[in-house]
Amino acid sequence: MCLCCPISDRRALLGGLVALTLAGCSDNARTGRRQMAFVPDEQLARMADQAWAELKASQPVLDDPVMDERLARVAAPITAAAGRDDLKWEFVVFDAPELNAFVLPNGKVAVFRGMMDFVASDDELGAVVGHEVAHILARHPAERVSQQLAAQAGVSLAQLVFGGENGENADMIARVLGLGATYGVLLPYSRAHELEADRLGVDLMRKAGMQPQAAVRFWERMMARQARQGAPPEALSTHPADGRRLAELKIAVAGGG
Ligand SMILES: [Zn+2]
Repeated sequence: MCLCCPISDRRALLGGLVALTLAGCSDNARTGRRQMAFVPDEQLARMADQAWAELKASQPVLDDPVMDERLARVAAPITAAAGRDDLKWEFVVFDAPELNAFVLPNGKVAVFRGMMDFVASDDELGAVVGHEVAHILARHPAERVSQQLAAQAGVSLAQLVFGGENGENADMIARVLGLGATYGVLLPYSRAHELEADRLGVDLMRKAGMQPQAAVRFWERMMARQARQGAPPEALSTHPADGRRLAELKIAVAGGG
């Protein structure tokens, strides 16, 4: 794919997108299903590098070495179990009260202070980390971006993928990676992606020597909290806790032996 196509050459660009779409369907050994993820991993990682740098520059990072150490200690066996040595995993606690966490496709994971305070054990924190790492193993960001591109194959999004690396598309890059204008509002993954990340996250916990039952306890407590508060807070809507989710999680925990 020519990276310097004039934008006026729109038909060629869209043709290229279609070709990439056709070429981009592949089987994912991690998930056992075929997925459309035609955006090159390196391209996605570069976009994520930019979004991550902006995030750290614009949002308060918590200055708490004890909390940093805890997150790093819990995350280490999970990333080791993930087997993606090509990624430079990084875990950062952002100083925000929401119960939230998210991951970018370059292996950068944000956990909010609210979430760090909420988890009742290291294994519950492991459930959060395992879930986020699992999104990457399953290539959910690539799949989500590809689905968006396929749905709106407009020039602006084509520009995003094939050009614009000088920062001028920063907002769009952040958006397409799932970060809203304010980073507390995240583009939700589909329910299928969430359930898949839960299941793969439990596998990672088990490989990391953690108790997968902690994931069930964590989501039970999330559900109880939501019930107390009525509707889930906006930030939580990316990771909704509900009965089906809990039921499938219990099956995954019981199934691994
Ligand atoms: Zn998720």
